Amino acid sequence: MQGKKIKNGALESALNTFLAEKEYLVMGFEKDASNVYHRVFKDSLDNYALMSPVFATNGALYLRRLFAKGAQIILMLRPCEIRSYVELVKLTQIEPENIIAVSVDCFGTVSSKTEGDIPAGEALKGLTKDAEKARWACANCRERRGVVGDAGIRIDANGDYWALPYTDKGQAFLSLLEGETSEAPAQMAIGPAEPRPAFQIDMKEFTKDFSKCIMCMNCRDMCPVCYCVDCVFNGDEYLPKGDALFNKVFRAGSTGMPRGKELFHLIRMYHVSQTCVGCGACEEACPQGIPLTKYFKGVSERLQGMFSYMSGRSKDEIIPYLTFIEEELKDAED
Ligand code: SF4
Ligand code: SF4
Ligand code: SF4
Repeated sequence: MQGKKIKNGALESALNTFLAEKEYLVMGFEKDASNVYHRVFKDSLDNYALMSPVFATNGALYLRRLFAKGAQIILMLRPCEIRSYVELVKLTQIEPENIIAVSVDCFGTVSSKTEGDIPAGEALKGLTKDAEKARWACANCRERRGVVGDAGIRIDANGDYWALPYTDKGQAFLSLLEGETSEAPAQMAIGPAEPRPAFQIDMKEFTKDFSKCIMCMNCRDMCPVCYCVDCVFNGDEYLPKGDALFNKVFRAGSTGMPRGKELFHLIRMYHVSQTCVGCGACEEACPQGIPLTKYFKGVSERLQGMFSYMSGRSKDEIIPYLTFIEEELKDAED
């Protein structure tokens, strides 16, 4: 594939051109002495970091909040974040016309809750040498390569960085990068994910894991693809209060609290199962240390597999529940 080997400082210079001359915002990462954070840059790229090895949340959530009609934004984010953006476009939550999405190769991330607060530089060094240090979501990631969105930043086996265009917008982005176009190496530092056995749910384990749930709903609120404004769990129907709860207790007898947590997770799992990107932002947000990713990612990958679908892989792939094919699922095995 044709791309551009990125010269020192060329990427920052191209992004600065978008900021200063084209009135774009850049959503990416900012580094300080000890950590790397999401940041929306305007005017200039100060303390810009191409990657963040520490995961606090999925940047597509911030994009959902930032998006306004006509806003011009360049996303320089991890593959799971760009995949979430692609799903949000399909779900008509974001209009892509003025957005350029660039996915950056990802060596995996450690949790922002990691004890001892590993400095970001150390975390990245650790991850490039020893992927075992990564979060469960990253150790089992389906796509760590910058191959989604309009363009990708890939790292070759020699440690050189390449910009590769996947769409016309990606091509426009590339045209602002200094340097000549040439054939990029076929082998990059990060290869395709190895196939893994499908995760099976054991309901006993599920009940045990979720018994600690306090129904704070942080997992829902921090999930990039869980977007309904009128979530059914904001109303009284599924989470009764006042007289409704009182009457239920009278009808059903003694009741454990919080009520309805299994239902909450099963409904959420059903809602995001075709769009979940397996980023683990839900688990990162959980104060109770519940291993949410293995359930949400496990269930969604099995379901997506039945439809040969992969969330966020391409804007052209229709989310299975948005379409109907009379003859589908004839050969489905599960
Ligand atoms: S889930 Fe994949 S893309 Fe996302 S941070 Fe982990 S390794 Fe990177
Ligand atoms: S359910 Fe969890 S793993 Fe899936 S997209 Fe939402 S936050 Fe990420
Ligand atoms: S974040 Fe954790 S405790 Fe809160 S509702 Fe989700 S699973 Fe339950």
